[in-house]
Amino acid sequence: MTSTVYSPNSFLSSASECPSRHSTITEPDVFVLPVSSAQQRLWFLDQLDPGNPAYNLPVAVRLIGPLNVTALEKSFQGLIQRHEILRSTLTLQNQQPVQVVHDKRASSAFHLTVLDLRGEPRGDTPKDTDTDPRLQAVLSKAIRQPFDLSSDHLLRGTLIQRHDNEHILLLVMHHIIADDWSMGVLVQELATLYPALAANQPITLPDLPIQYADFAVWQQQQLQSGQLQPQLDYWTQQLADLTPLQLPSARARPNPPSRQGAKQTWTLSPQLTTALRHLSQKTDVTLFMLLLGAFKTLLYRYTGCPDVVVGSPIANRNQPEIQTLIGFFVNTLVLRSHLQPDLTFLNLLSQIRETTLEAYEHQDLPFEKLVEALHPDRSLHQPPLFQVWFALHNAPLPDLNMGPLTLEPLSLQPDTVQFDLSLEVMESPETLTVAIEYDLDLFDAPTIGRWFEHWQTLLTGIVAHPEQPLSELPLLPATEQHQVLVEWNKTQRNYAQVGCFHHLFEQQVKKSPRAIALVFEDQQLTYQDLNQQANQLAHYLQTLGVESGTLVGFCLERSPAMLISLLAILKAGGAYVPLDPSYPVERLRFMLQDSQIEVLVTQQHLAVEPPISTPNVIILERDQAIIAQHSPDNLKTEVTPDHLAYVIYTSGSTGQPKGVMIEHRALMNFTLAATEVYEIEASDRILQFASISFDTAAEEIFPALTQGSTLVLRTEAMLHSFSEFLAACQVAEITVLDLPTAFWQQMVIELTAKRASLPMALRLIIIGGEAVSPQAVADWQQIGAGVRLVNSYGPTETTVVAMVHDLSRDLSHDLQVSSTAPVAIGRPLPNVQSYVLDAAQKPVPIGIPGELYIGGKGLARGYLNRPNLSAERFIRNPVIEVLSDLQVAEGDYLYRTGDRVRYRADGNLEFLGRLDDQVKIRGYRVELGEIEAVLQQHPTVQNAVVMLREDSPGQKRLAAYIVLHQALKPADSLEAFVEK
Ligand code: AMP
Ligand code: MG
Repeated sequence: MTSTVYSPNSFLSSASECPSRHSTITEPDVFVLPVSSAQQRLWFLDQLDPGNPAYNLPVAVRLIGPLNVTALEKSFQGLIQRHEILRSTLTLQNQQPVQVVHDKRASSAFHLTVLDLRGEPRGDTPKDTDTDPRLQAVLSKAIRQPFDLSSDHLLRGTLIQRHDNEHILLLVMHHIIADDWSMGVLVQELATLYPALAANQPITLPDLPIQYADFAVWQQQQLQSGQLQPQLDYWTQQLADLTPLQLPSARARPNPPSRQGAKQTWTLSPQLTTALRHLSQKTDVTLFMLLLGAFKTLLYRYTGCPDVVVGSPIANRNQPEIQTLIGFFVNTLVLRSHLQPDLTFLNLLSQIRETTLEAYEHQDLPFEKLVEALHPDRSLHQPPLFQVWFALHNAPLPDLNMGPLTLEPLSLQPDTVQFDLSLEVMESPETLTVAIEYDLDLFDAPTIGRWFEHWQTLLTGIVAHPEQPLSELPLLPATEQHQVLVEWNKTQRNYAQVGCFHHLFEQQVKKSPRAIALVFEDQQLTYQDLNQQANQLAHYLQTLGVESGTLVGFCLERSPAMLISLLAILKAGGAYVPLDPSYPVERLRFMLQDSQIEVLVTQQHLAVEPPISTPNVIILERDQAIIAQHSPDNLKTEVTPDHLAYVIYTSGSTGQPKGVMIEHRALMNFTLAATEVYEIEASDRILQFASISFDTAAEEIFPALTQGSTLVLRTEAMLHSFSEFLAACQVAEITVLDLPTAFWQQMVIELTAKRASLPMALRLIIIGGEAVSPQAVADWQQIGAGVRLVNSYGPTETTVVAMVHDLSRDLSHDLQVSSTAPVAIGRPLPNVQSYVLDAAQKPVPIGIPGELYIGGKGLARGYLNRPNLSAERFIRNPVIEVLSDLQVAEGDYLYRTGDRVRYRADGNLEFLGRLDDQVKIRGYRVELGEIEAVLQQHPTVQNAVVMLREDSPGQKRLAAYIVLHQALKPADSLEAFVEK
């Protein structure tokens, strides 16, 4: 046995000289040899999931012309004799996988599987191979056929005859013996062997200098000698603390994943191709680096994640001896970049140049060694280290001729995919072909089609202005931009100019004076009664100085008096400030103080002590006689749509509640829009459920009172149990319920468990206030038949509701049945616009999460006495220039919601959560930071974190975690401290 030194730069041995080659005693013609490190990993994966076809490597060519099948088969046998790897199997020896190289004679066992698809059905075989279902089925079956690594030929050939002069040759190898480069070697050698054998001419190919196993031996020696340690050190440092890239997928990854994949291809225009080549030359980077930079920018813009990691293949065939070999050489480079919104594309390119060159210098370390070092827990469910793949192929398989036979490469649909997303570019002299392969568990074809368009738009922007910051580069093609900004915001409705709500109400009183406006316990009020009593109080309010825009508070229990007062304030020209008497006294005092109202309407027993600054307090019982002296006739006031209609307090990031100022214009638009969308009619009987301090009460009250419907006021008893609630609704013949989502969800659970039924007259349930659980919507299908269910979404700052989504329509189209997909919040109401923008306030594409901004007629005037906060949340419309270019005249201001949403392809918005720490609990907006700040003011508290917990579904609670300076004394009640 000669000993041979293997150095990294040369393979000195020829196959026969290989030192580690030794035959087994029992089978003298069989050699047992070590495997390479990449083979070891695939062998390991195959042990975990034997026969998984994920690593079957297919290549197909179309053969046009007369074919000599025997010669073709012989050519393959020749190849098998020549390349040891093509006659190798893998097995376990001494607890280690090894490759067993079989004798050359094994080649005679190779046969092509021949299938005849001619004329089936006769004569109408589609010309196009892509659309021939029978061919595709045969190919797919052959590609998926599993290999037994220990006994099968790891190269299989199928020959499908489509016409007398047309065959498809499909070769499938297990990746453990081949890579993409090998496919080229194989096809090239075939093109030499076949014509000679077909013509019965002797043929010899130049001898192979070494065999694949020699490379494996060399690689093992290199690893054992510790030569690669510096490379391992480089990579472990380079890839420390990776952030996995969470691509915005249409669905959650199933467990286990199917890994079914699909592929789409496009061609970039010659102009763009040339421009890209120019830019790469000018900036001294390779085309690979430039395209990778653009791809990373795309991923960054989609995810907002500054740490973008992409895997990329490296042929790993630097040494000339191995360039002519078939075998699994390809290695994976993990290319990591750090992106920032203000980084220019040119700067990103320099960064990429540097990391890529460094990666090339450290390319010998087998990827699996790196995985071992960084990720000992190998999950089959998610690719290790990176989820996205990028490759540039500059040597595509050429069209070849084999004598009279022409070879055309055939593009195959992938059966399974290894990565979530792969973008591969094929370079040809004129153009670049782009192929995107994607995981069907996560993405669908239209999404990938759009993503290609985004990449193309980005590339066009980059060649025009490579000096632009990443956040400024264009992403949306004109058509998509038009769709999201204009088409989906075409909500314009010309509502007749009717002035203010109370004008409409007064018209309704004229139309139906005797219709029942209010029902409360056993009391009823007609429209005429309600109007007259409200007029009397309104006249009295005017005597107290109430005029257009004056803020008037009312703190009254749910009763006719509450509605009379509300109407009276509006009729007098004032704006109402609702104060729910069940709120903590501290909170009520704060609102009174903060709003500096001049008049307060209340009841004796409520004893809200107004601050000294409230000069006029009307106590209804006490002042009844004075009020009754006033005229019951409608008032004439100067109030216009520009005046305030109400101020509603809501929680805020300032640490204190803030008053949202809503003008009549916004309230009118909302009232008319809601009436239209909910189809409110005179025959409706609507439950007034919400606390008057929530703007949802406006959704119940205003559409009802402008349509001649009846408002039924909720009683406290109705909340004792769901059965009492439903029974009372049945008795009151309620047709419309407007419920907090959390309440409705509990009701669904109850209804399902008790098999109870809904009130007979009920036709519509509106829910809203927080994200709807998809499970509750799925369960609703069983119980809600015939009752329309609408999800309504809206911050107080945009007047009650900005978006609605008809969930029953989804259910009837079987769209929402998934109990995991987030529930949609739908499309904007009439005269409301929605924009989904990224952190740089640029529109994001369909399917990509962004922040929801709302514009249009519903916008509040701002926060009362908080100009800075108003300026922060009500911003100048950042897309107004784009809109005016598109000739759309839209509002100048948008409200920034802090809600994370995305567009579905049908234009409906999906709610994904908050961008800040605001939460909703039983309908209340709560800033967790506000509570944390209060806790931290306690002398014994060092640090505090507050969280929303939902330990059992529907049971939301706030939990505070605290670090103390010292033990709490029994007297230190933190709960009481926070409540104060
Ligand atoms: P509010 O001003 O009290 O109406 O609270 C508005 C906030 O509640 C929104 O910004 C959302 O975060 C949340 N919200 C309201 N309605 C919905 C809904 N239907 N789905 C998800 N979140 C909602
Ligand atoms: Mg709301």
